[in-house]
Amino acid sequence: MKHDVTPEIQKDEAAWKAQLGPERYRILREAGTEPPFSGNLLNVHDDGTFVCGACGQTLFTSDAKFDSGSGWPSFTHAEQQHNVRLLDDDSHGMHRIEVRCAHCDSHLGHVFDDGPGPSGTRYCINSRSLDFVPR
Ligand SMILES: [Zn+2]
Repeated sequence: MKHDVTPEIQKDEAAWKAQLGPERYRILREAGTEPPFSGNLLNVHDDGTFVCGACGQTLFTSDAKFDSGSGWPSFTHAEQQHNVRLLDDDSHGMHRIEVRCAHCDSHLGHVFDDGPGPSGTRYCINSRSLDFVPR
C-alpha cells in the first residue's frame, strides 16, 4: 500500500474500528469489498449527496449515479475530483485503479473505463463506504 500523501484526517486503527464497526471497517480501512447487490445504496435514486462513510466528506452526487448492472453503486464522476484519490492496485492478480477518500484515506472502491458518459469513467463504489444525505 502506498502512502505518498498525508490525509487531513488521521486516527489510529482502534479509533476507526470503534467508529465504523467491523463490517464497514473491513471495507473502508482494509480495502474490502461488499458482496454485489448487498449494499443499501445500490438502488437509491433520490436526489442527494453521497458522502464518505468514515469522515463525511462529499464524494458523489445523485446526478452522477447510474445503474451499471454490476451490483455496486456506480457513478460517472466525483463531485469534486480533488476529494478522491486514485492509486494503482495490483492485488488479486490484476491491475485496477483504487479509489480512496482524499480526506481520510479510506477505501471506497475502484474506477474503470467502461462507463456510459463521454469520459467513459465508472466509479464502482461500496455502499458501505458511503452515507447518503437526501437533498
Ligand atoms: Zn473520508
